[in-house]
Amino acid sequence: MFDLKDLYQEVIVDHNRRPRNFGPLAGADRKLEGFNPLCGDRLTLYLKVAGDRIEDIHFDGSGCAISVASASLMTEAVKGLTVAQARDRFEMFRDMVTTESHGHGGEQLGKLAALAGVRDYPARVKCATLCWHTLNSALGGGAAPVSTE
Ligand code: ZN
Repeated sequence: MFDLKDLYQEVIVDHNRRPRNFGPLAGADRKLEGFNPLCGDRLTLYLKVAGDRIEDIHFDGSGCAISVASASLMTEAVKGLTVAQARDRFEMFRDMVTTESHGHGGEQLGKLAALAGVRDYPARVKCATLCWHTLNSALGGGAAPVSTE
């Protein structure tokens, strides 16, 4: 029997094992660190923004499977988007993992929906949202490292 949950777990395992857009980005014009002290997740985001569009985005660092998979999925999801669109995804993603009932946005979130299950594990929500908070701050021109605490 086909189980959507298995598929979601596969996506997370896959992105943790082979993170996409991993490593420093040559020519990045923004770089920001994020830290989740609760779990020990650390990441650095590298962004290349042309006009108001995210031309390229990379990350590196180390952390738990959720934090790495989430960052990997995020880079795929926001590359090519405008800053406003990326912020919109951030809000949709945050709602998905923090709100009890979310009946909308699932389609636009695509593969990011694989992380919806963390909603049931409050401690892991920070692992999943660390990269997004870091992105949001970087897009706003933030320079200070982002902490989830
Ligand atoms: Zn974590």
